[in-house]
Amino acid sequence: MAHDTFNLDMDGDTLREECGVFGIFGHDDASALTALGLHALQHRGQEAAGIVSYDGGRFHAEKGLGLVSDYFSREETIGRLKGRVALGHVRYSTTGETILRNVQPLFAELATGGLAVGHNGNLTNGHMLRRDLIQQGAIYQSTSDTEAILHLVARSTKPRIVERFIDALRLLEGAYSLVAMTNKKLIGARDPLGIRPLILGELNGAYILCSETCALDIIGAKFVREVENGEVVVISEEGIQSLRPFPKLPARPCIFEYVYFSRPDSVLGGRSVYAARKAMGVQLAQESPADVDVIIPVPDSGVPAALGYAQQSGIPFELGIIRNHYVGRTFIEPTQQIRALGVKLKHNANRSVIAGKRILLVDDSVVRGTTSVKIVKMMYEAGAKEVHMRIASPPIKHPDFYGIDTPEQKHLLAATHSIEEMREFIGVKSLAFLSVNGIYAAVGGTPRNDVQPQFTDHCFTGDYPTPLTDLEGQATPRQLSLLAEGR
Ligand code: AMP
Repeated sequence: MAHDTFNLDMDGDTLREECGVFGIFGHDDASALTALGLHALQHRGQEAAGIVSYDGGRFHAEKGLGLVSDYFSREETIGRLKGRVALGHVRYSTTGETILRNVQPLFAELATGGLAVGHNGNLTNGHMLRRDLIQQGAIYQSTSDTEAILHLVARSTKPRIVERFIDALRLLEGAYSLVAMTNKKLIGARDPLGIRPLILGELNGAYILCSETCALDIIGAKFVREVENGEVVVISEEGIQSLRPFPKLPARPCIFEYVYFSRPDSVLGGRSVYAARKAMGVQLAQESPADVDVIIPVPDSGVPAALGYAQQSGIPFELGIIRNHYVGRTFIEPTQQIRALGVKLKHNANRSVIAGKRILLVDDSVVRGTTSVKIVKMMYEAGAKEVHMRIASPPIKHPDFYGIDTPEQKHLLAATHSIEEMREFIGVKSLAFLSVNGIYAAVGGTPRNDVQPQFTDHCFTGDYPTPLTDLEGQATPRQLSLLAEGR
């Protein structure tokens, strides 16, 4: 096992997940639409997918490892997922083991009836809750932090499912955009800071809750609004109800959704992700000009920023690296060795625009530095005269604990190297990153408000917006007492 029940060691890569959720209430083709929605969210998790549906009498569940299209394109699979309500989830975990029982939505039969839960985010007290719950007799079926939610709902003494669900939410720390499904309701909840996204949509009277707007576009559904930070929405035959169980806090959505994680055709916080990425490139060109002949994006994630950089600087934009689209994301490879190989499998130099030129590579981010080193070498091998690099986000110095896979801090290049050391390591003539205020200007239109930052930007600043209880190894005193009081 990657981590046993009582092992609270945070050995970096073992605990985090990347995910996408999609739920729909009140449509004859609920599960087929869910499969399509998950397909649009595939970039959020490529390891496994699951769908649970309810047909008015029974719940049905199908889970598969691999891509959504590997498993959910089969007619017989969708045919088994009967009903007008469905909830789906895509997942990429770094637990090192891919076991079917970890694949979401997780499902349990409770005193109030069946409950399925799909989670995008990561609980920063998931291990503490797990330990406490197991000590109190809970029988865990998975190694996922999400399972705590089912146990907490089961233990609440409130009579109704929505109240029980809210009871459970009160004990969670970290990031959660949750969609839950019962025999009568689809429930969406976003953590008090709204760290991960959650969107409300509508299709011919059926309501949808999903991670990104691109999942609405694929099925021709309408965007209604975002679920707000700290909001719980309850969808039933009676319509939609909005609850606010938490004291109102200013939202702090994760800025990394704009940098890398969300799809560029999605709209987040009222801002097109593509437009935000392009604006990062414009800002970068203003902050760190380069004397070069041609701008070359690192595909695909560097393309919008490179376009912005080229437009702002007036330097020609060329596709100097061609990407093979039949290879997964670099990070999806489990070991450093295979990751390095993955970069070679994925990218090839387009010599015709590189040879003899002074080139500027633009990428969205540097994590371990693996991609950059390989690509720079490839550019020199293709005859580049000079290779420079600009990165359209600030240096990543701190790991994420809110549902984006990042390695432990010692593997983050910027955590252990100065900019000059990184320049040397990557092998470029010049290297610059976008400033923190620059990324705020690109995404939000104003500089960072240091007293009350508009986003969570912990990867760059180390300013984590919630307690990191598991990491610090301290249970919050609230946890057990609240459970005992059954509040
Ligand atoms: P690295 O090779 O480790 O420096 O990774 C940097 C590359 O990975 C960049 O091209 C990014 O587009 C991409 N990237 C950044 N963050 C992530 C992430 N959380 N998961 C997968 N890929 C990422």
